[in-house]
Amino acid sequence: MIHLPNTLAFRLTFWYTLVVIALITIVFYASYFSLKKTLDQNLEYDLLEDIIEFQILYKNEGLEGVKQEIEREMDLVEEQKIFFQLYARDGSRIYSSDLSHWQFLPENKHLIKQVFSSKKFIFQTIDIQGTEYKAKTIYNLITPDILLYTGESTEDIQETMTLLSNVFITMFLIVIPFAFVIGWLMARRAVKGIKEVSRVASEIEKGKLDRRVSVSAQGNEITQLVNTFNAMLDRIRALITEIKEMTDNIAHDLRSPLARIRAISELALSNNNTPHEFKSAASDTIEECDRLLQMINSTLDVAEAEADAFQTPKQKVDMSQLVIDACELFEAMAEQKNIKLTCQPENNCYLYGNIQNLQRMLANILDNAIKYTPKNGQIDVVLTCTRQQIEIRVRDTGMGIPENDQARVFERFYRCDQSRTHDGCGLGLSFSRAVARAHGGDIILHSHLKKGSRFTIELPVT
Ligand code: ADP
Repeated sequence: MIHLPNTLAFRLTFWYTLVVIALITIVFYASYFSLKKTLDQNLEYDLLEDIIEFQILYKNEGLEGVKQEIEREMDLVEEQKIFFQLYARDGSRIYSSDLSHWQFLPENKHLIKQVFSSKKFIFQTIDIQGTEYKAKTIYNLITPDILLYTGESTEDIQETMTLLSNVFITMFLIVIPFAFVIGWLMARRAVKGIKEVSRVASEIEKGKLDRRVSVSAQGNEITQLVNTFNAMLDRIRALITEIKEMTDNIAHDLRSPLARIRAISELALSNNNTPHEFKSAASDTIEECDRLLQMINSTLDVAEAEADAFQTPKQKVDMSQLVIDACELFEAMAEQKNIKLTCQPENNCYLYGNIQNLQRMLANILDNAIKYTPKNGQIDVVLTCTRQQIEIRVRDTGMGIPENDQARVFERFYRCDQSRTHDGCGLGLSFSRAVARAHGGDIILHSHLKKGSRFTIELPVT
C-alpha cells in the first residue's frame, strides 16, 4: 500500500491540484458541449438554407435548374459527405445524386407522405453504416409537388470535437504536473511560518526559554500566530520569573519566623529555666506561629480574591459610609503618630460589590499610609463619584516608593528594601488590587521618593 505523506503542505497541494483538475474538466465539458451544439445548429441552418436556395432556383429555372445545381454541389464535395434526392407527390423518386456511399438510407415513404400533407420540414439524425459518424438529414418541399430529401455527414463536426478533446487531454497532461509543483511551492511557503513555530516550540521544550520566532513582514494569519505565540512565551517567561521571585520571597519570609522559633526553643532547652522563662518562650513561639498563620491566610485571601474576579458579588454598598467608617477606625492609629488624617467623602456613592473585601481593600491602603508615613505627617482620603465610576484617593506625605519598585509593590510578597524595618509580609497591596480588579476596577499608584504616595482606587459603578 502506498503511504502518502500526512503533512499539511502535502494535503494543501493535493486539494489544490484536485481543484485545478476539477476546474479544467468543467471548462472542457462546458466548451465541448456548447461548441458541439453550435456546430450541429449551423449544420441544420445550412440544410435549411439549401432548401430555400432550391425553392428559389425551381421558381426561376425549373426542375432542370435544380438538378444542375445539385450536380454542381456534388462536384465540390465528396459523395460520401452529402446526398440529394427529389421525390414526387406519389412517393416516386424523380432524381438522386450518387448514392453509392448512402446505401443504408432508411425506407422513408411515410415521412415523405407526412411532409407532403403537413407541408412542414422534418430533421433526422441517422448513423452512417460502416463508420462512427452520423448524418443530419432534412425532408422539405421545394414546390407543393416536389420534395427534397438531403443530408450531410457530421464527420467534420466530429473530427473538430476529437481535435478539441485531444487539445484538452494534452493540456491536462501538461498543466497537472505544473499545478502540483506550483501548489507544492505555495503550500510550503504557507506552512513555513507554522514549521518555524513548531521548531521553536520544540527548542523551548528542551529548555531554551528565551527563543522566539522571527516575525516576517507578511502581515497574514501566520504573522498573527507568530506574534501571539511570542507574546504567550513572554507571558509564560514573566510568570515563571514571578513565581520564582514569589517562592524566593515566601522562603525568605518563612525562614525568619522559623529561625526565631528554633532559637527560642533551643534557648528554652539549653538553660536551667524558671517556669516564668518557659512561659515566656511558649508565648514568643505562639506569637511567631500567629505571624506565620497570618501570612498563610493572607496568601489564601489573595488567591481567593483573584479567583473571584469573574463573579463579583451583587450587594449594594454605600461607599461614602464605608470610607467614613474606615477613616474613623484608623483615626486613633494616626493620632498615635501625630499624623493628621482628613476625610472628604462625597455623599451617596453606591456600587454593587463584596462589602467585606472592599473594607479590607481600603483598610490595607490606609494601614500602609500610616505605617510608611513618619510622625507629624498628613494623610488625605478623598471619595468622588460620577454615574460611571467611584474614585477613592489616599494621599500621604510618607517615605514614597522608588520608581523601580512602583510596578512591583502590587506583586505578592514584594516589599521595598526601605520598608523592611516595618512589620508586614508584602501581601496587602496584592489583595487590594485583586479586590479592585474583581470589581472591574484597578488601583493606580503615583509616588515620589521621600515626598509621599497617592493610591487611587477606581471602581466602576455597575
Ligand atoms: P506590606 O505588608 O509590606 O505593607 P503591602 O503589599 O501592603 O505589604 O505593600 C508592599 C510594599 O509597598 C510595602 O512593603 C512598602 O514597601 C510599599 N508601600 C506600600 N504602601 C506604601 C506607602 N503608602 N508608602 C510607601 N511605601 C509603601
